[in-house]
Amino acid sequence: MATGKINVSVDNIFPLIKKFLYSDHEIFLRELVSNATDATLKLKHLTSIGEAKVEYGNPMIEVKVDKEGKKIHLIDQGIGMTEEEVKKYINEVAFSGAEEFLNKYEDGAKDTGIIGHFGLGFYSSFMVANKVEIITKSYKDEPAVHWSCDGSPKFTIKKAKKEDRGTEIVLHIAEDSTEFLEESRITELLKKYNKFMPIPIKFGTKTETLPKPEGAKEEDPAPTKEVDNIINNPNPAWTKQPTDLKDEDYSGFYRELYPMQFEEPLFHIHLNVDYPFNLTGILYFPKLTNDLNIQKDRIQLYQNQVFVTDNVEGIVPEFLTMLRGVIDSPDIPLNVSRSYLQTDGAVKKISSYITRKVADKLNSLFKNNREDFEQKWNDIKIVIEYGMLSEEKFFEKADKFALYPTVDGAYFTFEELQEKIKDTQTDKDEKLVVLYASDQESQHSYIGAAKAKGYEVLLMDSPIIGHLMQKLETSKEKLSFARVDADHIDNLIKKDDTQISKLSDEEKEKLKTNLEEVISDKSYTVQLEAMDSDASPFIITEPEFMRRMKDMQKTGGGGGMFGMGGMPDMYNLIVNTNHELVGEILNTKTAKKRERLINQSIDLARLSKGLLKGEELTNFIKRSYEMVK
Ligand code: ADP
Repeated sequence: MATGKINVSVDNIFPLIKKFLYSDHEIFLRELVSNATDATLKLKHLTSIGEAKVEYGNPMIEVKVDKEGKKIHLIDQGIGMTEEEVKKYINEVAFSGAEEFLNKYEDGAKDTGIIGHFGLGFYSSFMVANKVEIITKSYKDEPAVHWSCDGSPKFTIKKAKKEDRGTEIVLHIAEDSTEFLEESRITELLKKYNKFMPIPIKFGTKTETLPKPEGAKEEDPAPTKEVDNIINNPNPAWTKQPTDLKDEDYSGFYRELYPMQFEEPLFHIHLNVDYPFNLTGILYFPKLTNDLNIQKDRIQLYQNQVFVTDNVEGIVPEFLTMLRGVIDSPDIPLNVSRSYLQTDGAVKKISSYITRKVADKLNSLFKNNREDFEQKWNDIKIVIEYGMLSEEKFFEKADKFALYPTVDGAYFTFEELQEKIKDTQTDKDEKLVVLYASDQESQHSYIGAAKAKGYEVLLMDSPIIGHLMQKLETSKEKLSFARVDADHIDNLIKKDDTQISKLSDEEKEKLKTNLEEVISDKSYTVQLEAMDSDASPFIITEPEFMRRMKDMQKTGGGGGMFGMGGMPDMYNLIVNTNHELVGEILNTKTAKKRERLINQSIDLARLSKGLLKGEELTNFIKRSYEMVK
């Protein structure tokens, strides 16, 4: 037996390891399984090129928990190590790696996110163990070695009896880490980090039911067999060629990723590049609700089939973080902070590649089956609209497939919409005015009025639509959006100019004074219009700009940015001078009765716009009952 002292500058590195990586203790298992996987894949490679003259066979990695002996064993059938190699790779390479890592960590490289996930390797086992043994036999014809270390830089090394090729790591679990002696905890970790690793991982056994032998009676129990409990799927869908996969395979894999998701995804996108960077993966469009907070099934990031994180912020463009699925890339630097990630050239390329692929897929779905695309629109629009707002490249591409639904259930692309409305919906400056409703119910009467005039009305009801309209207005020439209850409507060319007012100028003057006397609220501007006698006598409209700013303040961003806090209320009260009721108000003899008529009428107009609330609403209803009595 030989003893030695590992050459490190810190006297005892292990308390430091524990201290600095406190929250990440569980990664020791991923690191050790990764090492075992690497050792196995290396052997596979060496046998395939004829370098190693041994049988590769069907190797697996086994994890065993010895609760009584307070030990965890990790056994692989990989290349193993000779004594020379243990000295070199474990005592020197691994240790210096650990030391270097800690120095970086201490130097303030500590950041939230990915850092800390990778880089510590073998020595992360000292986060949970107070003694670690390595028993290993190389594929080369050399004796097996037994290395042991109790966490100080001292170690022992001696010959071992191991006959079969490979490495066994024994962790003597420390008192403060006994949670890792629970089978359920190990299962949880293996499923979290190693679910798709390329070498089968065995943890315990399970009972499998076999088919009944021929001639067995109904009541005979089916025979059973103890089989290896394999934790992982070594060949997950994203590692295969798209041409080898059917739709069922994609939905099967979705279920594998998110066992608690019962809803089918709407569609998938298979990512596959090897130049100028390496990236594979499958992204799924789930059915999204407007509630974006419920987001626990997220995109998972892997490196060579090892789970890294499900926080892909900075790697995937933000608007796509609402998707689900897997991205696997060895080219994403992981020992860096998130802020660094965002400026890294390779990561930027990856991010724009993903954006492009998603746009292309959406475009082909639209082109190949428009009807289906229209049906899915409501479920995918949030992602698309958000993408149009946040990524210029995506905005350009989305112009071809972004849809604008009408209140009547038709769907137009922007180009189609333009064609459809250009004759009816332009204003004095020949600007295209797109009328829209944000809520079919509360804007019902306004929608009806606009449609009666022959206007097309869009239904734009997603939470960020205000921002998107703003964006469209600035990027397209001569375009403006106006909600059906906005005052713009009256400026449209198609406005009925043939109506002649039934009132004389004098009468109009008097009516206006009467109304303004009763309406004390300064936020209302009275505006007299000669309209069809069937149209509403009183209509309240609101300047589009003001209302949109207010809406955008509510959803964040936009308005607030320009320091528009506390926008004043501003309304137009449009009075149809040709309506019978208006004539009646004008001709009423007593001031009291006139006041009552005006108040009741205006309250009805406010009710129609959803402005009548609280005490005012209560009083209005009370008054109305009195009147019908
Ligand atoms: P890394 O895996 O990043 O190289 P580690 O500290 O985890 O760093 O391991 C150091 C080295 O020890 C590895 O590069 C490898 O040569 C060797 N090693 C670790 N685990 C095994 C194993 N199970 N079988 C064979 N060699 C191993």
